[in-house]
Amino acid sequence: MGGQAKRNSSPWKRILIVEDDSVSALLLRKVLEQKGYEVTHAVNGVEALERFKETEFRVVISDWMMPEMDGIELCERLRKSAAGYVYVILLSAKSQREDSLGAYEAGVDDFLTKPLDREELLARLKVAHRVLAAEDSLRRKQEELKLAGERLANMNDRLTLASRRFEELFSDLPVACFTFNREGLIHEWNCAAADLFGAHPESALMKPVWEAFHGRDGGFWSQTLVRDIFEGKAQQGVDWVHLSPGHGERHLICNVIPMHGVNGEVLGGIATNQDITERRQAEQCIKTFARDLELQKRALEEANERLSTLAVTDGLTGVWNHRRFREELENDFSDVKRGKNFSVVLIDVDHFKSFNDTFGHPAGDEVLKKVAEILQRCSRDNESVARYGGEEFSIVLSDTDMPAAMAVAERMRQAIADESWPLREITVSLGVSTSRLDDESPEAALLRADAALYYSKENGRNRVSHFDTMTHQDDSRHLALKRSA
Ligand code: GH3
Ligand code: MG
Ligand code: MG
Repeated sequence: MGGQAKRNSSPWKRILIVEDDSVSALLLRKVLEQKGYEVTHAVNGVEALERFKETEFRVVISDWMMPEMDGIELCERLRKSAAGYVYVILLSAKSQREDSLGAYEAGVDDFLTKPLDREELLARLKVAHRVLAAEDSLRRKQEELKLAGERLANMNDRLTLASRRFEELFSDLPVACFTFNREGLIHEWNCAAADLFGAHPESALMKPVWEAFHGRDGGFWSQTLVRDIFEGKAQQGVDWVHLSPGHGERHLICNVIPMHGVNGEVLGGIATNQDITERRQAEQCIKTFARDLELQKRALEEANERLSTLAVTDGLTGVWNHRRFREELENDFSDVKRGKNFSVVLIDVDHFKSFNDTFGHPAGDEVLKKVAEILQRCSRDNESVARYGGEEFSIVLSDTDMPAAMAVAERMRQAIADESWPLREITVSLGVSTSRLDDESPEAALLRADAALYYSKENGRNRVSHFDTMTHQDDSRHLALKRSA
């Protein structure tokens, strides 16, 4: 049959002529080829369908009446089978125009009357091209729409899945969570929230947050809080106490965070509440334990202090004991080399043996206590009297020379003598010595004070003597001391 169109040319440029009359077909081909179309010729509908199997045609110009398969049937078959839209122009005799309605129903697009008018043919082809272009564009749009629809469906599926996963995650979170909208109405309420707050989602949902926790939160859940969240201000690490119906008083740490949409707008608020009651209780236990420990430590320190005071205190009189006096003496002796003199005063109650013998030891004890008290009163703030032993007392006067020491000793003697004693007058004798740069040990000053005390006893008692001013130091004890000094 007639010439075949090139397979790789544009389908728009290809036209299939279906015509059993070879003269008509030739005429048609000529006109079309002159206009640059590639023409394929089939002699009837059956052959035309065969050609369609090999090549895609967008325009078919077909004779109406043909053997084996006429133009109408061909058109019907093409409508059913062709993938793209095929523009079908039917060639008809003038007498057939009355039947054109049926032809339109079969899917024919246009008619050309035989004999062919060249200009009309070309004009009809222009229309065909416009229709095909519109058809193609429509088809493209339909395809795009279909693709977009598929993408949308796909996205919807993913969104549904993500939403379901989020719901599952949210619901099973071990932290009590809920969300709320701009009106403060609770939207979601997870299992942990139901457990902690003792309210099932049905009773909590769509309730304003300030009502859900009314009176149980110290005013934390308020309209102001909701407004702040919707202004984008998050609340982090807020401490609040909730009285849980099932679990008693619970300490919670709460974060309330705005949830933003894709454009940055706040869509809702999400609140997470972590139960830290056990942690708080443990902290409280540790605090109590630490406080108890501190109290015990303080009691121990006080006991130790009391013990060390007792260790240096005389049991009867409450003044320092002999040991403490010796420590004081050592301390002051070490200062002598740095140019600081000290003095020692020894005090002995006069005729005390006879007092005991007359009034008994308990009365004697009372005297000793009173003497100690008076001596302490007469001493300077930073110096303490000690009980040297028996009815003897002593005191170290730091940084004190002979005249000052004598003044202190005299004040003591006078105070004892002036006291109104209930049973018998009590007096004391005092011996004073002052340190010397060449003393080799603290004992030296002590021995001199003892000699001075002896001197006071020898010279009538109730008096003060300083070793350095003793006038008759001729007895053996004094001479021995003088030599050692
Ligand atoms: P002198 O004036 O020479 O010091 O004579 P004195 O009697 O005071 O001296 P003596 O050393 O002979 O006697 C001291 C007495 O002090 C003997 C002792 O019974 C008494 N004495 C010592 N310690 C205590 C005490 O703790 N309580 C009582 N009540 N008496 C005591
Ligand atoms: Mg004595
Ligand atoms: Mg005595």
